[in-house]
Amino acid sequence: MDFRFTPQQEGFRQEVRAFLREELPRFQKGLAEEGEGGVNKAFSRRLGEKGWIGLAWPKEYGGQGLGYVQQAIYWEEMLLAGAPIGYHLVAERQMGPSIILFGTEEQKRFFLPRIMKGECGFSIGYSEPDTGSDLASLKTRAVQDGDDYVINGAKIWNSSHRGADYIWLAARTNPDAPKHRGISVFLVDLKLPGITIQPITNMANIPGFCLVTFDQVRVPKGMMVGEKDRGWHVVAGNLDFERSGIERVSYCYPLFREFVRFVREVPVGGRRLGEDPRVRARLAEMEIEYQVGRWLAYKVAWMQDQGVVPNLEASVSKLFGTEVSQRMARTMAEVLGLYGQLEPGSPWAPLQGRVERAWIYAIPRTIAGGTSEVMRNIIALRGLGLPRG
Ligand SMILES: Cc1cc2nc3c(=O)[nH]c(=O)nc-3n(C[C@H](O)[C@H](O)[C@H](O)COP(=O)(O)OP(=O)(O)OC[C@H]3O[C@@H](n4cnc5c(N)ncnc54)[C@H](O)[C@@H]3O)c2cc1C
Repeated sequence: MDFRFTPQQEGFRQEVRAFLREELPRFQKGLAEEGEGGVNKAFSRRLGEKGWIGLAWPKEYGGQGLGYVQQAIYWEEMLLAGAPIGYHLVAERQMGPSIILFGTEEQKRFFLPRIMKGECGFSIGYSEPDTGSDLASLKTRAVQDGDDYVINGAKIWNSSHRGADYIWLAARTNPDAPKHRGISVFLVDLKLPGITIQPITNMANIPGFCLVTFDQVRVPKGMMVGEKDRGWHVVAGNLDFERSGIERVSYCYPLFREFVRFVREVPVGGRRLGEDPRVRARLAEMEIEYQVGRWLAYKVAWMQDQGVVPNLEASVSKLFGTEVSQRMARTMAEVLGLYGQLEPGSPWAPLQGRVERAWIYAIPRTIAGGTSEVMRNIIALRGLGLPRG
C-alpha cells in the first residue's frame, strides 16, 4: 500500500495550481458561489484547450489515459480554488465515461470530442415529480414511431436551466415489463421542440433546479444509449460514476481553511475564537473527517484506475463526503453563534456571510445523487450482505 502521489502526479498538481493562479481571475463571472456549481462556458472551453477535460479517458477515445487519480487531483484543485466547472462537470464525470461504456460508436464520435473541448454540458434526467429514491418507478414514456422515439412526461430537480445542452434521460419504453426491465436511456437535445424548462427556486432563494416537461418530443432512435428496455443497467453504472467525485468532501473545505484563519487571527469580543478549547477540538475533528473523506474519494479514483467500476465504495465516499460537508458547515455556523446565520450583504456577517450560504447549500447535498438513507441501504446490502428491508 502506498498512500503517496507519484512525483508526476505531484508535478501535475503544481501545474494546475499555477494555471489557476494565473488564469482564474479573468474568469471571475460564475465563480463557484455554490461550491462546484458555478457555470462559466469560457472557462470550460479553456480547460478543454488545456486537454484537462476527460484526461482520465482512454486514448482510443481521444482522452489522455492519465487515470482517474490524476483526474481527481485536477478536480480537487479546481474545487479548492472555487473554479466554475459546473457547465462541464456532469458531462466529464459521468456522461463521457457512460458513453464510453454503453454508447454506440456514433455517439462516441459525436459526444466525446465535444465534451473534451468543454462545449457540451449535460443535465441528469432521472427524478420525476412522483419518483426519486424509487427511480425504477419512473413514468416518463418513450414510444417508438418510425426512426424516432416520442417522449412524454416530466423530469424534476435537474440543472437543465443552467446552460446544459443535453439531458441524459431515463424513460419507460415497456410499461408491461417488470419496472426495472422496461427502462431505456436517451441523449436528448434540450433544444428539441416540445421541451419546456421551468426554473424552481430552492431554499437558498435561487433557481437551483428546474422542472423539464416533454410534450411529444421526437428523439432519433440513434440517441438511445445501450439496449432497449435494459437501461437500468446503464443508469446504475452512471450513478456509480456520479457518486465517485471528490467534490462531495471538498465542497466546504476552501471556506473551512478561511474559517480556521479567521478564528486564529480575528478577535471577537476581545478574544480570538481559536483560543477556546471547545472550538479548537471541533475544528480539529472536522479536519480529521475531511482527511478521511478525501482518502475515500481517492480510493474510488484508484479503483477506477484498476478498471473496477466502484459501486459500494462510491456510495461510501458519497455518503461520508456529503455528511462531512454538512457537519463542517454546521460546525462553522455554530462556532460563530448567531453571527453564523447572517446572510451575505449584512455588515456584521463574518466572512461575507459565506458560512450561512455554505450551511444552506450543504443541506441538499445528502439528497442529490441518492439520499444518505439510500446509500446506507446499498452499503448494508452490498457491503455487509444484509437482507433487503
Ligand atoms: C441539490 C439537488 C440536486 C439534484 N439534482 C438532480 C438531478 O440533476 N437530476 C435528477 O434526476 N435528480 C436530481 N435531484 C433529485 C434527487 O435525486 C432526489 O431528490 C432523491 O433521489 C430523493 O428523491 P425524492 O426527493 O423523491 O425523495 P423520496 O424518494 O420521496 O424520499 C423521501 C425520504 O424517504 C427516504 N427514503 C426513500 N426510500 C427509502 C428507503 N428505501 N429506505 C430508507 N429511506 C428511504 C429518503 O431517504 C428521504 O429521506 C437533486 C436533488 C437535490 C436536492
